[in-house]
Amino acid sequence: MNGKVYLVGAGPGDPELLTLKALRILRQADAVLHDDLVSPQILSHAPKKARIYDVGKRCGQKSTRQEAIHFLMIELARQGLQVVRLKGGDPLVFGRAGEEIQALREADIEFEVVPGVTSVLAAAAAAEISLTMRATASSLLIMTGRFADDRPLPDLRSLVASGTTIALYMPGPDAHMTVRKLAAAGLTLQTPVALVARASTPGQQMILTTLKELPEISMQAKPSILIIGDVVRLSQPDRLRLETLYGQPIPLPAPTHRKERDVWGTLQAVNHE
Ligand code: SAH
Repeated sequence: MNGKVYLVGAGPGDPELLTLKALRILRQADAVLHDDLVSPQILSHAPKKARIYDVGKRCGQKSTRQEAIHFLMIELARQGLQVVRLKGGDPLVFGRAGEEIQALREADIEFEVVPGVTSVLAAAAAAEISLTMRATASSLLIMTGRFADDRPLPDLRSLVASGTTIALYMPGPDAHMTVRKLAAAGLTLQTPVALVARASTPGQQMILTTLKELPEISMQAKPSILIIGDVVRLSQPDRLRLETLYGQPIPLPAPTHRKERDVWGTLQAVNHE
């Protein structure tokens, strides 16, 4: 009889952000196929006898082909094994789970998706930024910085103006290029951004700045994510523990939105009491 494949989210890094369900399934695994972003601590929950395969993909480096992952997953399940396909964050957010689901369906292998905490949530928690805010931020756009050249970006100016916070996954190694593309999509260079690397791990780093200043910042830690939009002003760098800050936070320009200025002012006042 065929085994079953579990597409499991391992969360953003902190092993405590693994769900109880993910932990239970991992503990019962016969085989684990994991991404680069999954830490050894999390993998240590798999049984000693489980077969562990690192099938991670690194941008620009040697990596496992997607078809090889499908083949391995399906073969192991056909041997009757309980297979855990373990992915950083949530499997359905930039995790190529769509292709894996398709391959499993075609092979007629039973599977189940187990959600995980996606990285923008850990980044926002670290920076103490609410991604939505009553009256100012009413939606969250999850997008990738690996912009496909032939596909136009949405009009970001009207989105941000109407209260959308943007979570930019995979912002890319060339910040100049990222900023150029975001500006071409309509974002003003004064837009506040939080760059958070290795969110929820001991190596977490972050910087609050504006799109304009972003290319001047050298932040080597990876992986990183960008939170873009007015809600970034809600972060208070002086309240965050120092080791989470890299370099000097760059002062944000004064908020323009009247209502938000009030909120910002109140928070600052509370902080100084
Ligand atoms: N499925 C994952 C995303 C995979 S794409 C999720 O739901 O989070 C890989 C991108 O995720 C990275 O380039 C980075 O932008 C982001 N990422 C993953 N882990 C991260 C972390 N701990 N801190 C900051 N960004 C992270």
